Parts: sequence; C-alpha cells; structure tokens
Amino acid sequence: MNVELNEQFQHADWSEEARQILRTCVHCGFCTAVCPTYQLLGNELDSPRGRIYLIHSMLEGNITTQETQYHLDRCLSCRACEASCPSGVRYGRLSDIARELIDQEIPRPRLQQLQRWALRQVMSYPKRFAALLALGRMARPFLPAKLKAKIPTTQKRLLAPRAPQARKVLMLEGCVQPSLAPNINIAAQQVLYKLGISVLKAPNTGCCGALSYHLAAHEEGLGHMRRLIDAWYPLLDQVETIIITASGCGSLLKEYGDLFKDDPYYAEKAMRISSLAKDISEVLAQEDLSQLQLKQAPKKQVAVHVPCSLQHAQRVVGVLESVVQRIGFDTTPAPDGHLCCGSAGVYSILQPEISQQLLNNKVQALESGKPEFIVTANIGCLMHLQSGSSLPVRHWVELVAENLV
Ligand code: SF4
Ligand code: SF4
Repeated sequence: MNVELNEQFQHADWSEEARQILRTCVHCGFCTAVCPTYQLLGNELDSPRGRIYLIHSMLEGNITTQETQYHLDRCLSCRACEASCPSGVRYGRLSDIARELIDQEIPRPRLQQLQRWALRQVMSYPKRFAALLALGRMARPFLPAKLKAKIPTTQKRLLAPRAPQARKVLMLEGCVQPSLAPNINIAAQQVLYKLGISVLKAPNTGCCGALSYHLAAHEEGLGHMRRLIDAWYPLLDQVETIIITASGCGSLLKEYGDLFKDDPYYAEKAMRISSLAKDISEVLAQEDLSQLQLKQAPKKQVAVHVPCSLQHAQRVVGVLESVVQRIGFDTTPAPDGHLCCGSAGVYSILQPEISQQLLNNKVQALESGKPEFIVTANIGCLMHLQSGSSLPVRHWVELVAENLV
C-alpha cells in the first residue's frame, strides 16, 4: 500500500521504519478477531486495523485530533494482533512511534500529564516505589476494599543460596517486583542453584525502561536502558545468559538490539544483551529437570496464565505450560488464553473500566477448570489477577521452589 509521509515527518529517525510498517498492512482484518479491545468495544477504531488507519492518517499529515489519542490510549499494547498478522505488521513498534508523536501533537490535560509523569517517576525507581508501598501498607486498614486488594501484604523472605556454582547467569532485579514480591527472584535463584547455576549481582541495575518507553517518554526510557547496559556489559563474558522473571521486562530486553541499532556506542552492546536475554521458562525448558529433586507431593491443579508479553511479544508459545507440566503440576483448561488480563503495564490505572472487564473475563476463564492455584510469569499480571480472584495467584517459579527437597 502506498504511504506518503507528510513533509514534517520525512526526516524523523523513525520515518523509514514507520513507512515500511504501514506499507505491509493489507487491511485484511485478521487481527481484529484477536484484539481484546475490539472484542469488548466493537468499534473499528478500537481494533488494530482501525488504529493503523488512524496512525497512517496522522503520518500523512491529516488533522490529528484527540480521537486518535483516545483510541491509541485504549490499546493495551498486548500485541495479540502482531502475533496473528499474516503480513508481519510490527504493530507494537508502530504504536510506540505514534504514541510519542501524538503526545507532541496533542498535549494532554495537565492532570493526565502529571499522572503519567508521577507513574514514571515512582514506578521506574525501586527505592521510590518501595517507600510508596510501605506508606500504602501503613494506610491499608483505612483504605476502601477495592484499593486494599491491590496492596499486597509483606512476604516472609526466602533465603537466597550463597555458595557459587560453576555456571553463571545474570538476572534482572526489576523495579516494582523486588518490593511487591521479592521472593520471585529468590525462588528463581533457589531453582537455578539446584541446576548448578548461580546468579551474579551487577551494581546500578534497576528498571529496564519499559514503563517510560511505553508511556511515550522515549528518551527517558532509553536512559534507563543505557544504564542497565552499562551495568551488565562488563559481566557478559562471565555468564551464559540473562534471566528475566518478569516477561514484560523480558520483551523489551529482547528489543534493545533493535532500539539501539543506529547508536554507534550502544548498538553492539545492546544486541549482545538482547541475544542473551531469556525468560526463566525458556531456560528451564532446556535443562534436565530431574536434577530438581522435587517432593513427591500429590499433583496440584494449576491454571496457567501466559502473559501477552511472553506469548505475543516474545513469541514464547507453549513453553511455560510445558515446563509447569514437566515439573509435575496438572494444568487445567484456560479458555481464550490469547486474551490480555487487562494489566498491561499501567493500563489498569489509566483505563480502569476496560481493564476491569478484561480482568473479570480472564479470572472466569482461569477458574473455569477448578484449579487450586493460578500461576503466571509477570508481576503485573500476577498482582492484577490476584485483585480479582480468591484463588492464590503465584509466579510459577515460586511454586517450584516450594516443592524442592
Ligand atoms: S495488521 Fe496484519 S492482520 Fe491486521 S489488517 Fe493489517 S495486514 Fe491484516
Ligand atoms: S496491541 Fe492488543 S489491544 Fe492493541 S490493537 Fe493490538 S490486539 Fe488490540
């Protein structure tokens, strides 16, 4: 399809990339069948094809209105459309480009700007987020039930193994996960230790940059990415892989190479980090799991929620379910597994109504097979699902660590 970018966009560093992505869309509409917002709202402009049309129109220089921003804001960035597109349209990349641009074209009301700025300034920094969570926990008894359900109680910390093993990896600490669920990374370390792998600590890590980048603050997000690359790069020769226990972060780490491809200083470093990045399910899928020596407990029935960031963005399909089964759990049916749970980074805060509807549908689907637990692979999904389900919702690796002998 012919794409003529408006004069003002022709020299932007993303112009050729955007033009190529737009050209590949043949408007067939296959993607609409898997789009959660289209399914829920039934409006073509809330479908991937409709949003591509709006972006195309904006980049060709037609008048951009708040309507374009409104429909792009309602997109979850779940990338189910991208995974189902027969033409390989990179919708996720296109929407990242468009989101930054539209915020420049249509300035948001002050309150929205402040909300987005505050989310980035608190959630991307582990110490700031920990302080806010501590305040929330103190205020918990006085909060309304709905808000209370979103504040997790303090976990009794597991002990991380200390003795070094022959094989070494790096692990992303993350920004909100260490405060919300510190045991996830410790459980991962315990499981890896049984496989003869220990985790090297790098100083000055922190956020992977996803929150800022996906909230249209690209330079800020790239700053977080550069800091992480600088922290890890000196250790890369010592490790076999970089393990991520939050698939939302993993999906961005795998794209560092792409995002820095034109940066003379960071291109090679970023590419190397992307090539080493793996979700912990991918790592365990390659290991001899009999080394884990799990307790011979009765089989637990678990429903697996595979995050969009794992199945659609990283295209890691079927691996998580297979590892959970190989470890000895029975998985229960979870219909419509391709649909987003409504967490989607900070979407549940910015678009609470759509997010809540998606959550209700997802919890109903996951509970339909009568599981004892729900397991997932991303902290955002975990917290969101827990706020809507009476069943325990865990990161699957915590369940494995609990069953180690
Ligand atoms: S994004 Fe892909 S599936 Fe959707 S309309 Fe375009 S070509 Fe068809
Ligand atoms: S990313 Fe998800 S919500 Fe957004 S258009 Fe694609 S399928 Fe729909």
